[in-house]
Amino acid sequence: TAERARPHVVLVASPGAGHLIPMAELARRLVAHHGLAATLVTFPDLSGAPSAAANSSVLSSLGAAGVSTATLPAVPLDDLPADARLETVLLELIGRSVPHLRSLLRDAAPLLAALVADFFCSALLPLAAEVGVPGYLFFPINLTTLSVMRTAVELNDDGAAAAPVSELRGLPDVLRLPSGVSLRHDDYGDGFRNSEEPVYKHLVEEGRRYRAADGFLVNTFHEIEPAGNVDESIKQVVEKQGAFPPAYPVGPLVRPSSGEDDVSSSACLEWLDRQPAGSVVYVSFGSAGALSVEQTAELAAGLEDSGHRFLWVVRMPSLDGAKTNFAAMDDKDDPLAWLPEGFLERTSGRGLAVAAWAPQVRALSHPATAAFVSHCGWNSALESVTHGVPMLAWPLYAEQRTNAAVLSENVGVALRLRPRADGLVGREEIAAAVREVMDGEEKGRAVRRRAGDLRRAAARACAPGGSSWRMLEEVAGKWKAAAARRRC
Ligand code: UDP
Repeated sequence: TAERARPHVVLVASPGAGHLIPMAELARRLVAHHGLAATLVTFPDLSGAPSAAANSSVLSSLGAAGVSTATLPAVPLDDLPADARLETVLLELIGRSVPHLRSLLRDAAPLLAALVADFFCSALLPLAAEVGVPGYLFFPINLTTLSVMRTAVELNDDGAAAAPVSELRGLPDVLRLPSGVSLRHDDYGDGFRNSEEPVYKHLVEEGRRYRAADGFLVNTFHEIEPAGNVDESIKQVVEKQGAFPPAYPVGPLVRPSSGEDDVSSSACLEWLDRQPAGSVVYVSFGSAGALSVEQTAELAAGLEDSGHRFLWVVRMPSLDGAKTNFAAMDDKDDPLAWLPEGFLERTSGRGLAVAAWAPQVRALSHPATAAFVSHCGWNSALESVTHGVPMLAWPLYAEQRTNAAVLSENVGVALRLRPRADGLVGREEIAAAVREVMDGEEKGRAVRRRAGDLRRAAARACAPGGSSWRMLEEVAGKWKAAAARRRC
């Protein structure tokens, strides 16, 4: 049938909710709007992560959207040292899965139109060349971070890949991007700040591999990161990439809030239903952000002092100063037990603290929710603007500082929380910022208004004929043409 004959795209998500969720939405749109068939391929879950249940609900919702799913077989990783960094584990997992993916692609080959791999999976690009289809990278962050990556690659263009770490050129103190974004050294993501650390070399090498891609699909949209004049010509927009292949802004790829139905967090929603419209601050640090015990106490006190209602997704505190906690949650772990004594009683009725995970898109789309204290993971930021919710930016790790700078200084949809000299964000700062974003007359009013503008712009970008819709249509058209040529 015609349905069966649709050109087929294979998308490979790397582990992690922040990668899987937007890619699932990309797959859904390619099938629903752009005449393609799609299979979303995942790696076996790193078990016990707080997001594991949510991930499986994302996958199970795809069937109804006409997207096939496949999980790669597990590969042995037990030879890695027990204290191997998460990045190392992920890259080994991906590298060792290449043979499995190769056979999956060979099976799909007759109708295969393209391979789209998450940006952690650049090691998979040669497979696209082997099978003779276009290979694209999905970049779940934004054009700004992609430009930082490109700058690091261009600065070291002449150097052989084997150059010692000490000879790599680092990023400038201030980077002015053509989009108008200016980043200071402090705004760079973790791995980009010190060119003498091995992780910088690793990023440069990763960026060099990006050049083998035919293009990037970036989870952003014109109004949040202006990339030239989209109305002039799609080509001008995407070709300003220097050493990198063209980048197509195709976002915001945010899952519909109805897609979260079966996540067992209805307590949050029932509680939100009982709150007045526009009265609640939603507080969450993504799928892995963690605060120290002292910082958790300051946040609790700040929320209490603010006098506002709040819904706080509390994660186990980090006891070693790390800003992430990917560790599996133990059944006996109770993050709420780490809250200051008496806090839950004193705030009962106007605050709800939930352990580990909340149905975030539904919380942000709920009429009671008015502001978001966020770690500025890019998915969280897009979910917030899609629903017209202004943010208080509290970046923790990875490229979140870059996102916080873009959102507060360029986009104007977030106010930034500033740490004290001791590194903690203090209760006074938190209470004052919550009051400002909720009902401040100047800065607060400005971010609230901007959030409303962006909500409308995001909806326009993804609607038929909108900037992101046209970008995806353009790319899908290239894939279909390539598939037709292969069949002749
Ligand atoms: N998320 C959620 N409930 C939570 C925490 C996170 O549904 O309690 C989802 C969130 O909606 C987002 C993703 O997990 O889609 C996290 O991605 P993001 O890029 O914001 O942060 P990361 O976890 O990658 O740091």
